[in-house]
Amino acid sequence: MKYALVTGGSRGIGRAVCIKLAAAGIPVVINYVSNDEAARQTKEEVERLGVKAELLKFDAAKPEDIERALNDWETVHPDDYVDVLVNNAGIRKDNLMIFMQNEEWSDVLQTTLNGFFYVTRRLLKNMMTRRHGRIVNMASLSGLNGMPGQTNYSAAKAALIGATKALAQEVAPRKITVNAVAPGFIESDMTKDLNEAELKKLVPVGRFGKCEEVAALVAFLASDEAAYITGEVIKISGGMG
Ligand code: NAP
Repeated sequence: MKYALVTGGSRGIGRAVCIKLAAAGIPVVINYVSNDEAARQTKEEVERLGVKAELLKFDAAKPEDIERALNDWETVHPDDYVDVLVNNAGIRKDNLMIFMQNEEWSDVLQTTLNGFFYVTRRLLKNMMTRRHGRIVNMASLSGLNGMPGQTNYSAAKAALIGATKALAQEVAPRKITVNAVAPGFIESDMTKDLNEAELKKLVPVGRFGKCEEVAALVAFLASDEAAYITGEVIKISGGMG
């Protein structure tokens, strides 16, 4: 059976992606790092659609954690493989660069960029063998334009975009597509500390986006219909920048 793995699938955009992929009939492996209750809720919502859901807790910033969790999953699933990988896990640790601590820099890079590398490399072999796969990386407008106070986050997302474009060319002959989605301001826990009333004035559509709107784009990129789209970065930002 083919599965989708969504890193950071317990909350926000990742949860909406799990539900949207499940609505398309794809069984979902929901990764998360700490929030057991939120992950359980996502699992319940997927199961309510009559689709299989499994929780797979690991820290996307820790290669040994990823290796252990995916080895365990494969032991239980000898005939199954992950055909759709959504690298969505991400964190913000904003600070002006002059004040930025080493951990603020490295934590953000490790989660977004190293997480993408370790999880994707681990799952790529099976996709290559089966000659099919979909990889969608959650970038950001910050990775395209840069955002003051986010040198760490902008660097991680820009690097993710570069890796998307390079990997897309490596694996295209095996019918694996690799794309990035670059959201602007989306309503989620990650943006709840922002001044939405002020910031939405910067958005031509005049509001923050919804997680479900990002999920719809991810699900399209994961579908068979998107077979001829690869190496792209698609903005979903209400017309912003
Ligand atoms: P969110 O609501 O804060 O959710 C973050 C998710 O990532 C949670 O499921 C969390 O798991 C998981 N996560 C965090 N660190 C992890 C780690 N080390 N290993 C595994 N999972 C981890 O964030 P969101 O707004 O949905 O953002 C999702 C993605 O979209 C991120 O990559 C973010 O950078 C990107 N994005 C968001 C926006 C926006 O405006 N919201 C805009 C552009 C890009 P727990 O529940 O266990 O903590």
